[in-house]
Amino acid sequence: MSYQAVNPFNETLIKEFSNASNQEVEDALTQGYEFYQASKSQAASEREQLLSQLADEFENNSEYYAKFLSTNMGKLIGQARNEVKSNVAIARYYAQHGAEFIKPKTFPDVDKSKAYVEYQSTGIVLAVEPWNFPYTQVMRVVAPNFILGNAVVLKHAGIVPECASAFEEACHKAGWPKGAFKNLFLDYDQVDAVIADSRVQGVALTGSDGAGRKVAASAGKYLKQSSMELGGTDVFVVLADADIKRAAKEAAEARLTNAGQVCTAAKRYLVAADIYDQFLTQLKAEFDTYKLGDPLDENTTLAPLSSKAAQKKLYEQTEKVIAGGSQVLYGELTDISQPGAGFTPMILTGMTTDNPMYDTELFGPVAQIYKVSNDDEIVAIANNSEHGLGGAIYATDIDHARRLASQIETGQLSINRRMASHSEVPFGGIKDSGYGRELSHYGIEVFANIKAITYND
Ligand code: NAP
Repeated sequence: MSYQAVNPFNETLIKEFSNASNQEVEDALTQGYEFYQASKSQAASEREQLLSQLADEFENNSEYYAKFLSTNMGKLIGQARNEVKSNVAIARYYAQHGAEFIKPKTFPDVDKSKAYVEYQSTGIVLAVEPWNFPYTQVMRVVAPNFILGNAVVLKHAGIVPECASAFEEACHKAGWPKGAFKNLFLDYDQVDAVIADSRVQGVALTGSDGAGRKVAASAGKYLKQSSMELGGTDVFVVLADADIKRAAKEAAEARLTNAGQVCTAAKRYLVAADIYDQFLTQLKAEFDTYKLGDPLDENTTLAPLSSKAAQKKLYEQTEKVIAGGSQVLYGELTDISQPGAGFTPMILTGMTTDNPMYDTELFGPVAQIYKVSNDDEIVAIANNSEHGLGGAIYATDIDHARRLASQIETGQLSINRRMASHSEVPFGGIKDSGYGRELSHYGIEVFANIKAITYND
C-alpha cells in the first residue's frame, strides 16, 4: 500500500508518505478514546465554536487548501475552490444546527409512563474516504460526529495524501483537541484491525461497491455500525416538454464536472424520442466547449482523470462497452500512451442488457444515451440496475416529473437541476449504492446511541 501524491496532469511525483506504524495507530485510538470520554462532560457549544474555527481556517486559506485538490487528483482550480467552499458550508451547518439535532426528544406517553430519547456519542468512528472530493467527503463524517462527541480516524485514498494531511493540519490550526480527528496512512489490514478494536464503534465508507463489500463485511464481523456511500449509474431523463437548451447545458455539466468522477454524475441519458435528435445535437455542442488541460490553468474547462491508473481503467472499460455492441456517437478513445491522465469526452449509444458492461459505472467523461418512448420504458431502464444512488429529470410539467421521480428506485432525485448535495438534505443510496444517510439531521444520528428512557413520575 502506498500513499503517493502524483500530479495526474503531468505524472510528477510530488511527495510520498510512509504507512502508519502500529504504534501510531494505537496512539491515535488512545487519544481518540480520551477525546470521546472527555467530550461527554464538555458543553456542545465548545465544540460548535471549534467547528466554526475549522470552517474559518478553510475559508481564510481557501487557495492553500484548494491547490492540493488540483495537484493530487487533478480537480480544476475553480472547482477546487468550490469544494473548499462546500467544505466550509458543511462545517458551518453542523456548528449551527448540530446541537439542536441531538437535543433529547420526548415520545408519546407509553403504558402510563413517560418516554424520551437522548442522543449520545459512542466512541471512535473510522472514515474510509475516496479521492474524488477529498475534503467534503471527510467533512460529512467529521462535522456531525465532532458535535456529537465521537472521535474520527481517517483512512483516505492512497492518491490524495496531501489532502488528508491538509485536513489534519486545518483541525490543528483551528485548535481542535488531540484525538478529535486523526489522519492515518493505513493499509487494508490495519483498517480491519482498527474496525476490530473495541474503542471503535462505527465505520463510514465512501467509495466503490467492491471496497464497500469488504469494509462492511469487516464491520459486520465485529458488529460495528456502518454506513456505505457507494457508486451509481444515475439516469438523466429529458422529457419531451423539457427546456432542451438548459437540459443540454446541465447534461454536459452533469457528466463532465470533476472530469466525470462524481458518484451522482449523469451516467445514462434517457431522452424522449420526439426531441432526441435536437437534444443530442445540443449536447454535442456543449461537449465541444470543454477543453482538457492543466487543472491549475484558470482557462481549462476539463480536468484530467485522477491518476494514470484511473485513465487506463476507463479506457479498458470503454473499449469493452464498444466491443459489447455500443456505438460511438461523439469523440474517440484517448491515446493513453501519451503522458498525463487526460480523457477526452465520449457519447455512446446502443447499450443493451446483454452487453457484458451493462450497469458498470464508468467513472469519467463517457456518457451513454438511450432514446425512450414513454414513462414505463424510462422507469424500466432506470430501475434495471443494481445501483440506486441518484438521478435527474428535466420537464416543464412538474407534476409529471414528480410522479416519475417517485417511481425511480434511488436515494435521491432532482428535477430541472442536476444532482448536487446540500448540507440540509439527506444524501445516500439504496441497493448496491449503499446504505445509511449523510448530511442533514440523519448525518448526526448514524453513529449516535439513540438511547430510550422511560420513566414514571
Ligand atoms: P475505492 O477504490 O473503493 O476507494 C475508496 C476508499 O476505500 C479508499 O480510501 C481506498 O483506499 C479504500 N479501500 C479500498 N479497498 C479497501 C479495502 N479492501 N479495505 C480497506 N479500504 C479499502 O473508490 P475510489 O476509486 O477512491 O472512489 C470512486 C468510487 O467512489 C466510485 O464508485 C464513486 O461512485 C464512489 N463514490 C460514492 C460517493 C457516495 O457518496 N455515494 C461519493 C463519492 C464517490 P486506497 O485508495 O488506499 O485503495
